[in-house]
Amino acid sequence: MIKITKFGGSSVANAIQFQKVKNIISADESRRFVVISAAGKAGEDKNKITDLLYLCRAHVDYHVDYHGIFGMIKERFLRIKKELGLSVEIEDELNELEDKLPGISTDELVSRGEYFTSKMMADYLGFPFVDAKDVIRFNYDGSVDFEATGNALNVELLKNDRFVLPGFYGSLPDGTIKVLSRGGSDITGSILAKCLHADMYENWTDVSGFMMADPRIIENPCHIDRITYAELRELSYMGASVLHEDAVFPVKEANIPINVLNTNKPEDPGTIILDHIEPSEKDHRITGIAGRKGFAAFTLYKQHMVEDVSFLSKCIDVFAKYGVSVEHMPTGIDSASMVVKEKDVASRIYDIIADLREAVNPDDIKYVNNISIVACVGRNMATRVGTSGRLFTALGEEHVNVKLIIQAFDEINILVGVATEDFEKAIKAIYGNFVRSVK
Ligand code: ASP
Repeated sequence: MIKITKFGGSSVANAIQFQKVKNIISADESRRFVVISAAGKAGEDKNKITDLLYLCRAHVDYHVDYHGIFGMIKERFLRIKKELGLSVEIEDELNELEDKLPGISTDELVSRGEYFTSKMMADYLGFPFVDAKDVIRFNYDGSVDFEATGNALNVELLKNDRFVLPGFYGSLPDGTIKVLSRGGSDITGSILAKCLHADMYENWTDVSGFMMADPRIIENPCHIDRITYAELRELSYMGASVLHEDAVFPVKEANIPINVLNTNKPEDPGTIILDHIEPSEKDHRITGIAGRKGFAAFTLYKQHMVEDVSFLSKCIDVFAKYGVSVEHMPTGIDSASMVVKEKDVASRIYDIIADLREAVNPDDIKYVNNISIVACVGRNMATRVGTSGRLFTALGEEHVNVKLIIQAFDEINILVGVATEDFEKAIKAIYGNFVRSVK
């Protein structure tokens, strides 16, 4: 059995967190391949090392002295080292980094958070350290070169049957360091799981998996025990962010389950993410509710619109010209609404309207903002009749006006657009009807 065990920044923020990681690793012999983020926030430690490293870069760019900020980074690492009594040599490397800092690339600089945190963790666990620049390989376009990564990992496996690997970075074909997007250590864990054909990818963080709704809106929401990748994508897009959204792709292809667990409460059940889950009468009809504020809609009216074969594509081209993605597009016979993120269009509403007029000559255009979208997600909705009926009854009973309705044929997700002032009320109404009543 091979488990990839990835620990996020809060799990490695200080010596106490390091001890929790060690307990988790020692509790299970299959936890042999460990991926580590840069020390993040926890308790007294209010800064993420990665943020401080980016801040050093900004200081250099604006010709401001960076040694004060760098001193905070050094102090943090050396404190962890001292408190755990580690022997790994990092002082010289830290001093060297401080001296050469203005001359190195941003990617190399910010990758050092993971590098130093992992070196210390390897020493603490008594595991070999493997540098991500030697095994995680990218193509020049930034995509992962799975073949080269797999080969490099196989070479490593001939030498070691366990190791600690820093997350977040790897190297380009010419050897230069390249980082993933923020939160990217989740993706490193997933790449490793795929390349080592792991049985399980454990992602240890500071929450016990996923909840059915945002605890800031629903007090003490039910825990989600199991969720499919597709459901998770829908919920994450709508704001339920625990895992980096690109982390599911490598493991999904290889059909490896992800278990999201809590380093601070290792005994809590996590949430298992799987490719496919057989429908069961025992499961809730819905898996989760999430939502996002900040949408706007342009609605175009034109007689005989439905007969104009290029009407919609011409509209989308206008938004594309401004780099704006049309996220949803409900249509009537003679009208169509283009739903977009308000922040993407806020400064260019009149230009977009003028271009739409020129492109399709509509009879009228209306712009509405302050829309929120609530997503009700569940694999079991397709197999049980009456879900949407209950959903709209629940909203109606709470006097929530539904402005927009979207459901695709796979029936995994029903999206409703409401005025932003009704956002929380809508989530409470749906949760109250499908899960349990809320005050
Ligand atoms: N340290 C990086 C960040 O803060 C990557 C990670 O933690 O996953 O974004």
